[in-house]
Amino acid sequence: MTIARPPLVPRLQRFGTTIFSEMTALAVEHGAVNLGQGFPDEDPPAAVVAAAHQALDAGHHQYAPGPGIPELRAAIASHQRAWYGLAVDPDTEVTVTFGATEAVAATLLAVCEAGDEVLVLEPTYDAYTAVITMAGAREVRVPLTPPPTGPEGERTAWQLDLDRLAAAITPRSRLLLLNSPHNPTGLVLKADELDAIAQLCVDHDLIAVTDEVYEHLVYDGAHLPLATRPGMAERTVTISSAGKTFSCTGWKIGWACAPPPLTAAVRTTKQFLSFAGGTPLQHAVVAALGLPRAELTAVGEVHRRRRDLLTDGLLAAGVPTTRAAGTYFVTADVAAIGWEDGAAFCRWAPAALGVAAVPVSAFVEDPAPVASLVRFAFCKPDEVLDEGVRRLGAARLWSPR
Ligand code: PMP
Ligand code: GLN
Repeated sequence: MTIARPPLVPRLQRFGTTIFSEMTALAVEHGAVNLGQGFPDEDPPAAVVAAAHQALDAGHHQYAPGPGIPELRAAIASHQRAWYGLAVDPDTEVTVTFGATEAVAATLLAVCEAGDEVLVLEPTYDAYTAVITMAGAREVRVPLTPPPTGPEGERTAWQLDLDRLAAAITPRSRLLLLNSPHNPTGLVLKADELDAIAQLCVDHDLIAVTDEVYEHLVYDGAHLPLATRPGMAERTVTISSAGKTFSCTGWKIGWACAPPPLTAAVRTTKQFLSFAGGTPLQHAVVAALGLPRAELTAVGEVHRRRRDLLTDGLLAAGVPTTRAAGTYFVTADVAAIGWEDGAAFCRWAPAALGVAAVPVSAFVEDPAPVASLVRFAFCKPDEVLDEGVRRLGAARLWSPR
């Protein structure tokens, strides 16, 4: 006899398979160029892969300490100091996690009481909504303003409306979960915006959690952690991971840097989510973070060129596209080629055009303002991007109109 009561608890029943898995499955099924799920095609730097081999050969097969191996916590602290001038104590302020995803989950589960409000930017990365819901907290979305639609050509950037953020704060607000560089819009928050956000956090006693996994993928301006702004080091959990910077998204080595009381809270939940993971890979990420600064800068330069290749290709194909300031992604308006419904375009394109993408509507509650926007990933070699653009060029011929 089957189980009578549905196995998944009601509050999680609205979460199906992630849009990334869905679109990658379509890409694989149809042999499409996968500009959907954001993962690089290339391997991590050879020295980093070699360090992983060495760690396996050296017998690093057993549990790491719960907060992470001391060498990696020290390397993360050095990284924060070298890049941002942030002083974090590797023993009391750094926790190694199973990707940024676990760092976000551990933090939210640690600090949110049922009914607490968590502010997030919308479009919203799907894992945030799920984990806020698991924590029993209430998600409060602050919509970013999409670039204006209009004549074909380069669209301007997405914008954060600070008044809208301020207006969303209530006495129940506990935490601001900020993602900059922002997936999927490519928005990178600037110093004056971060200062205004910091002021709101201080004024309303909010904890800030920052997802900075694209910190080394910034093309216009510079990445600034919120924790560098006045009053924020005391109340911020700064999260990142090795996946994007070192092209090892499958390794799931992430970290959270936070002042001792917040770190203690994060470690409490983290130890019961996974305890510790990926011991040999933790050793390899020590080597990765020890690479010369120029190698990390080069990652940004390579991706700036790829961003331009894809943006220019899409513009030439008559698809208005924002030139993302950061991340792996551009957003493009497929209404110009006859698709008012970007989700329908994304379900159609893998088989019909041989290209996979992700609809921006998957990241929002009300799809109307972003219905025709589609996210394309450019973390791919030139020839893959060229082929993707070439195939997309045929979209107009197939327009549903
Ligand atoms: N945050 C954002 C904004 C992402 O785009 C992703 C996807 N890589 C993650 C977190 C997941 O990071 P990790 O694989 O380190 O868990
Ligand atoms: N962060 C990746 C993206 O946005 C996907 C991660 C995942 O598949 N969960 O495309």
